[in-house]
Amino acid sequence: MHPLRILAPALTALALLPFASAQAAEAPCSEPPPPQPATWVAHIEEVNRGLGIPADYAARHHLLPQPEARDLVQVPRDVYGRKVEMAAPAAAALQRMFVAAAHDGVKLETVSGFRSVAYQTGLIRRKLKSGMSIQKALSINAVPGYSEHQTGCAIDLTTPGVPAADVSFEHSKAFAWLQQHGATYGFHLSFPPGNQYGYEYEPWHWRYVAGSATTPLR
Ligand SMILES: [Zn+2]
Repeated sequence: MHPLRILAPALTALALLPFASAQAAEAPCSEPPPPQPATWVAHIEEVNRGLGIPADYAARHHLLPQPEARDLVQVPRDVYGRKVEMAAPAAAALQRMFVAAAHDGVKLETVSGFRSVAYQTGLIRRKLKSGMSIQKALSINAVPGYSEHQTGCAIDLTTPGVPAADVSFEHSKAFAWLQQHGATYGFHLSFPPGNQYGYEYEPWHWRYVAGSATTPLR
């Protein structure tokens, strides 16, 4: 058979793939995130309108629309025993970092990894229902569509003896280890005190940036 006759059906199948899948094929965890399709941005804007988030909130806080991860890999379960997932390259880097930390006598534990836009929306909706203002809620939880957690590249970490997502993590041996070695594995603190995004200081929130690790993959 002529090679084109074999290739043609495959090409047709590729053309039929939805646009979102073409997006997912891009390397995840790049910084800055790739420009997002107009349909996705419109969806994010609609979700945020529904929550009463001002239309210019993201722009004012230097936030960029993020892609939503599709290819997820399981990483160590969280402190409550629940499944935690990350984008594949971030998951591989996390596993290596956990092993290295353990070797240095530091036990790292997961609290939260991938969170979909829908899940993030639910988190904020619950806070609003409990009477919290949208401004306060957005200083604790990222704006849906702009969260690093939805990329599958961010992870909230803790260590035994420290409550989950608690600022006291800053004083732990685990945090000191992350400050010293996190970047070696491509993990960076996203929200230091006084960050430009309007988020409270989150010593527990680390984000993997593709290509930034200084140790080669084994
Ligand atoms: Zn986080």
